[in-house]
Amino acid sequence: MLFCVIARDEGPKQSHRCLLEGLEDKNMPQEILVITEQRGGEFKNVNLEVIGEAQRLSDACGLGFSVFLLGHKIDELTGPLRNYGAGELLVADSEILKEYNNQVYTHVLAGEISRREKKPAAILLPATATGKDLGPRLAARLGGAYIADCIALDIDGDYLLEARRLVYGGSVIATVKSVCPESQVATLRPNTFDRAEIVTDKETAVTGIKAGSPPNLRTVLKEVVYEKERGMDIAEARVVISGGRGMKGPENYGILEELAGLLGGAVGASRAAVDAGWRPADTQVGLTGKTIAPELYIACGISGSPQHLAGMMSSRCIVAVNKDPDAPIFKAADYGVVADLFDVIPLMIEGLKKKNNKE
Ligand code: FAD
Repeated sequence: MLFCVIARDEGPKQSHRCLLEGLEDKNMPQEILVITEQRGGEFKNVNLEVIGEAQRLSDACGLGFSVFLLGHKIDELTGPLRNYGAGELLVADSEILKEYNNQVYTHVLAGEISRREKKPAAILLPATATGKDLGPRLAARLGGAYIADCIALDIDGDYLLEARRLVYGGSVIATVKSVCPESQVATLRPNTFDRAEIVTDKETAVTGIKAGSPPNLRTVLKEVVYEKERGMDIAEARVVISGGRGMKGPENYGILEELAGLLGGAVGASRAAVDAGWRPADTQVGLTGKTIAPELYIACGISGSPQHLAGMMSSRCIVAVNKDPDAPIFKAADYGVVADLFDVIPLMIEGLKKKNNKE
């Protein structure tokens, strides 16, 4: 029996281990698995961040990665998903996967992952509403570990996941380590990780996965009602104009809508505005809302609490409009306007309209 021992600083972490030459340990993790998310054939950018992290982790530990796609009539998405160097693209295309149902999705995923010869070192999902619902269920079904809402990830020589995540209202970063090498499931906070790079020199094989309903389905999805006019998703928008308590009431958001329209952006809100019922919950920016990283973020009448900043600090350019010169938001802002927003925003709108008319 021969042992292969490779020095620590040579090659990826997998090589720290002693492997029986010529034999493959069936329980050894062999890949990173990414579970992507789509809705109605629309593929969110956050998937590219999760694939990007799988690329980075798989390079670090010497494993490959595969990508899982579930839904119905999703042919159009398979082509683009083959561009990122995944070893395999697993596609479950079925009527029963048309709308997200956590029991059905968990059943299909857990069944396939358990049957699969390649054991995943880590299973990564976006920390979206769906990902946060599906991730812990999947980990529980597989008897694995679950780490939620990670802002950074690493994998050690024993394939144990180590993650950083925000706790105590975003004021503390905790480092969490899994002690269970099998079926480690992690959700990744959107707009936090680098997006995947296109890989041209690797072929991605596409494997069709059969999807069946669980025998003991306890709830069925009767109907999904979408908002009539769904504005642009703040997590995907290049420009986000957010209003906080300083907006004084829901009736005043029209000026932010108008400004956003001129800049091709979306309107966000602080939690104070959402809690007051002025704005929809899916427009909340921050720790308990969405993490966004637009090219331009304009905060109007927002004080800049740590919980709000946790959701927008990665924006490329931050502009704050606040009448209080000591508002903490100014410490985070690239440009600050100390003024009444009801004076400043109409001036911005007027200026943009003039500029557009000239062009
Ligand atoms: P305020 O703090 O009341 O600030 C209003 C600002 O408007 C003030 O600075 C004022 O000077 C300015 N202003 C008033 N009138 C005008 C005017 N006419 N012109 C210009 N400026 C004006 N908050 C979030 O936003 N997102 C989160 O995800 C989030 N998660 C949280 C999670 C936890 C666990 C906890 C405890 C809190 C969380 N919060 C979150 C709440 C957060 O702590 C703050 O309470 C909230 O962000 C404050 O919202 P605001 O800035 O709109 O309101």
